[in-house]
Amino acid sequence: MQIPRTVPSLRDAVRPLFFRGKSVALVPTMGALHSGHMSLVKLAKKYADVVVVSLFVNPRQFGAGEDLAQYPRQERRDLEILEHHGVDIAYVPSETVMYPKHFSTTISVGGVSEGLCGAHRPGHFDGVATVVTKLLLQVSPDILILGEKDYQQLMVVKRLIDDLDMEVSVIGAPIARESDGLALSSRNMYLTAEQRPIAPRLYATLLEVRAELQRHPEEVETIIDKGKQALLNDGFSEVEYLELRDSEMLTPAKYFSQHTRLLVAARLGNVRLIDNIPAGDES
Ligand code: AMP
Repeated sequence: MQIPRTVPSLRDAVRPLFFRGKSVALVPTMGALHSGHMSLVKLAKKYADVVVVSLFVNPRQFGAGEDLAQYPRQERRDLEILEHHGVDIAYVPSETVMYPKHFSTTISVGGVSEGLCGAHRPGHFDGVATVVTKLLLQVSPDILILGEKDYQQLMVVKRLIDDLDMEVSVIGAPIARESDGLALSSRNMYLTAEQRPIAPRLYATLLEVRAELQRHPEEVETIIDKGKQALLNDGFSEVEYLELRDSEMLTPAKYFSQHTRLLVAARLGNVRLIDNIPAGDES
């Protein structure tokens, strides 16, 4: 596995592959890898000849008072995992490689970035769009693999790629979960022994809300309110949002339809968890 840490060394690693006609998939991550990330790597291997995984904790997508300083960093372990999974290139840029002195460009995507996480994490999607644009320009992949775990992020990046006519196909990978339903996340390691059994209630509540919506498609507000209250009763300290939205445009949906998605963000103490499911699947 090659481990470039600068843009020229990354390009030296990638350029010969293009000349040899190899297709390249990029899987961007912030490290602290778990099997959710590895499910993306498996998809990447299925769709492309060469897999590039980036490890970069992007400071621009963290707001003031968020967990940038505490975010888990375990580069050596991450590199071992990537090597073990047959990744070809692990791109590990430093902060100064990504944002050198005098860096002053921000990519900002409107529409889909508003509301949901966009409302609760001001500037977050500007940080995401900026770093993803840079990674796409640096790696020039044929395929970009992102997880549905961060569903709004997936829609923001799709919009960005369409709007800027970037020649890259985006594949959204299904959410990898623990056996009790909790979506795998690097932040799950912050959960205390008391909080851990409560955390899967987030997914369970989404399933309950979906079942109710399918029975009463017009009672969105009442059913959602009940879902929020259930999370608070279960021990979540705050429900940032629980919403039914159009699954592509992410505009608020007044009624349940096959083309809607349920998205949630809630806090267990200091730990912020997110999850989502299609509203229209499986009754
Ligand atoms: P992160 O390191 O949290 O920035 O995540 C890197 C990529 O992995 C993003 O595209 C995430 O959506 C994706 N990802 C993280 N957790 C999961 C999961 N449990 N299932 C599927 N994809 C995930």
